Amino acid sequence: MITIQVPDAAGKIIKQLNTHGFEAYAVGGCVRDSLLLRVPKDWDITTSAKPEQVKEIFARTVDTGILHGTVTVLMEHEAYEVTTYRIDGEYEDGRHPKSVEFTGNLLEDLKRRDFTINAMAYSDRDGLVDAFGGVRDLDDGIIRCVGNPMDRFNEDALRILRAIRFSAQLGFCIEEDTNKAISAIAPNMEKVSKERIAVELTKLLLSDYPEQMRAVYESGIAPYVSTHFSAAQRGLFQLEKLKLLPSSKHVRWSGLLRFLDPKQAAGILKELKLDNDTVEQVRLLTDLWKREIPASKPEIRKVMSRIKTSLFEDLLSFQTVFLNGPYLEQLKTVGQYAEEIINDGNCIRLKDMAVTGRDLIESGIKPGPRMGEILEVLFDEVIKNPDNNNREYLLNYSKDFL
Ligand code: ATP
Ligand code: MG
Repeated sequence: MITIQVPDAAGKIIKQLNTHGFEAYAVGGCVRDSLLLRVPKDWDITTSAKPEQVKEIFARTVDTGILHGTVTVLMEHEAYEVTTYRIDGEYEDGRHPKSVEFTGNLLEDLKRRDFTINAMAYSDRDGLVDAFGGVRDLDDGIIRCVGNPMDRFNEDALRILRAIRFSAQLGFCIEEDTNKAISAIAPNMEKVSKERIAVELTKLLLSDYPEQMRAVYESGIAPYVSTHFSAAQRGLFQLEKLKLLPSSKHVRWSGLLRFLDPKQAAGILKELKLDNDTVEQVRLLTDLWKREIPASKPEIRKVMSRIKTSLFEDLLSFQTVFLNGPYLEQLKTVGQYAEEIINDGNCIRLKDMAVTGRDLIESGIKPGPRMGEILEVLFDEVIKNPDNNNREYLLNYSKDFL
């Protein structure tokens, strides 16, 4: 018999529900990940108890999504989502079920779930409940819809991207009929919110197999992701290299969008409603990566002064992955020099300069745009040579501009 190590607190919640005469199981992603010997992110619990009954049994609960049957139970400093078995009603817009109906039947609840590998339940008392061949598909490395894939994608087009995202996270193939349905139902993706699309695509890019992004283009979904997303297709060239990049959001997105004009890259991410910070960093990285950095400290300081230190490090990783030839040797020197610049505490930010606007005012320069220009000139001096970051020298130098 298959056993899964359920965390103590989750096990307690399940037992307590059982004691009150209800069924309860760990379900979905946590069962899948445990069987794959991966560490589950969170443990969801499914139960025959209605939300009100769950709330009566446990001392500390939060109404997370009562209408959809979800109550969060706080147990031993952890939070667990406990959701009543449900049958999703008719889907109104390819995304939201018009209604949800509670049921006392676990199999009905498992049947509404997207893929066989996500449709398994487990409890210590009853063991594994696998009604749709989830274990077999886990063994074979297959993403397969529960039931008829055309119907399932028609109900909720986000599942299309979830299928590709899971295949990227797990290194699985998408089963043939499921794959065909993906292409057929792709136009329905227009109904899915951009935020949700962005979440799935970001998870895909951050996964172990980001090259699965190819499937988004090959199955014809790209035009329905967003108006300009198809333009990123050029990024499919050497897409395998994406996994060599640090697994952070702005770096992986930059990897995909690296051949686009930085404005265009930022535009695509704005369409997808990604946060401003990510958009800005992608704009910078897609701009900077094509330019070789000379192995000279003044030049390196100049580049460093334009961006956050962490982004400079990302830039070096990015160039190491995507550029080649003799520049790679130079890049090592650039990395060494950059480290020295940081360790020596060289001034690379205007705010760290030994002279401020106030000093200039005191020496008789009027506030205004001219003063900004003078500060920039002084900063250039400091970038050229860190020894110049000295009050006396800079004030003296500024006199030439009076
Ligand atoms: P992750 O590791 O990304 O959290 P997960 O499998 O836990 O993966 P969730 O989005 O947290 O995914 O959803 C939990 C479970 O709910 C899934 O395993 C699946 O059974 C079900 N589910 C989630 N989204 C859908 C959907 N759009 N259609 C059908 N079932 C879904
Ligand atoms: Mg989850």
